[in-house]
Amino acid sequence: MGNYNPVDDDTVRELVEILGERWVVTDPEKLEPFSHDETPTDQYSHMPEAVVKPKSAEEVSRVLQIANRKLIPVTPRGAGSGLSGGAIPEYGGIVISTERMNRVIEIDEANMMMTLEPGVITNEVNEKISQLGLFFAGYPMSLETCYIGGNVAENAGGGKAVKYGVTGRYVVGLEIVLPTGEIIQLGGKRVKDVTGYDLKGLIIGSEGTLGIITKVIIKLLPLPAGRIDLLVLFSSAQAAIDMVPEIMTGARVIPTSIEFMDKLAFGTSCEFLNEHIPYHDAEAMLLIEIDGNSPANLETEAEHIGDLCEKRGAIEVYVADNYTTQQRVWAIRRGIPEAFLVVSPHQSLEDIVVPTASIPALLPELEKLSKKYGIVIPCYGHAGDGNLHATLVKNPDMPLEEWYEIEKDALKELYSITMKLGGTISGEHGIGTKRKEFFNELCDPALLDLMRRIKKTFDPNNIMNPGKIFDMQ
Ligand SMILES: Cc1cc2nc3c(=O)[nH]c(=O)nc-3n(C[C@H](O)[C@H](O)[C@H](O)COP(=O)(O)OP(=O)(O)OC[C@H]3O[C@@H](n4cnc5c(N)ncnc54)[C@H](O)[C@@H]3O)c2cc1C
Repeated sequence: MGNYNPVDDDTVRELVEILGERWVVTDPEKLEPFSHDETPTDQYSHMPEAVVKPKSAEEVSRVLQIANRKLIPVTPRGAGSGLSGGAIPEYGGIVISTERMNRVIEIDEANMMMTLEPGVITNEVNEKISQLGLFFAGYPMSLETCYIGGNVAENAGGGKAVKYGVTGRYVVGLEIVLPTGEIIQLGGKRVKDVTGYDLKGLIIGSEGTLGIITKVIIKLLPLPAGRIDLLVLFSSAQAAIDMVPEIMTGARVIPTSIEFMDKLAFGTSCEFLNEHIPYHDAEAMLLIEIDGNSPANLETEAEHIGDLCEKRGAIEVYVADNYTTQQRVWAIRRGIPEAFLVVSPHQSLEDIVVPTASIPALLPELEKLSKKYGIVIPCYGHAGDGNLHATLVKNPDMPLEEWYEIEKDALKELYSITMKLGGTISGEHGIGTKRKEFFNELCDPALLDLMRRIKKTFDPNNIMNPGKIFDMQ
């Protein structure tokens, strides 16, 4: 592992021949932004030797053929909004940025599908189709910056997953370039397809370790005409979590989102945003969103859920049924990560996932961890699907060396608690480099071995995003 060759002058010349001088970056100052993603720079960054910006699958293929022949590591990169270090060039080498592959190739209304290049910003997808009454349900919270290719590579989830599922559910076709340079098509404009192995499913969520995604075909849905949000305050986290299945079985509604926030999380966010809703008696909040086509039905469903919450002891139910109030209540949820960055830039934003019924058992364990390690651990996230952002935040007075030690031990304990509850260590952000050590320890060795054999089949020289998810030996 790691016996790679440097990107020498000869290689740079070959890259320039393919892409033109403008799209081959070797100036260290211009390389720096490609040395990190949204994981803490002091812990995970690594400089590439060159960044290339191809415009087509053919150019990607030619770059990969050089890298494979010369044993140079290659790291695919979308917008760099990842939270597991996946786009960081662990072994230097070449970063392939997909920023110029940003065309919407086709909007196919008849089939309700859309064909995209990987560098299209996720938010632009819905901007392009909403006037046609269509909707793409892949919906990470980072949608204003991240790319569709990065979403597929991470199988991104997000706020709407409880009703609509995650990105992979909507991917019907992919074009990928293998590490050896072949361009292959997987799936297509077909809702059903059981012809051979589901290799498309293997690529979705493979974190750029098996090939570079150069085209994505997604399935679209009819755009719901309206939505209502409810911000519900509870006197205990347990009471809030108990409501999650109740909403679906009692009110018989599958909400678009059920977001949970503990007091530490929403209190810090409200303070950061200067938001003054009266929340002081509350220990937890649920942000529940429903969508649909009939305003009357939506109102009835919202009322039903609100009544049910009140019957189960909710302190207050705020209804947000217009754009301004909806923005206001979602700002509290979206503001949490930024609010804690003000408390301390040193933190570990996690995305553990447990069966939803196990969330109440998880929360006291987080409290124990917090006391044991002398750090705060706000907990918030997608309660509707059991995916929670327990975030380990460094105490501002704690020396950095102590934090690094504590973070590792606390993460190990957090992951082991999660697994004991039937959960797993990442529900949406992936393993990357950040969780590799833990994943390798916790994963069944036979499964890990199978993954390594799959990787070897796709990437015999281990040039494609090496050092991510697992090491090859
Ligand atoms: C504020 C914030 C909120 C977030 N909210 C969510 C959320 O709600 N849900 C969620 O799932 N994630 C979330 N994320 C994490 C991140 O935005 C997602 O993982 C996103 O899918 C990454 O997309 P990207 O284009 O930034 O990819 P990058 O970070 O550039 O890359 C991510 C991984 O994908 C690989 N990759 C990128 N493009 C390609 C390609 N074309 N072919 C092959 N591999 C490729 C990279 O090698 C890397 O392993 C959030 C991040 C932030 C900062």
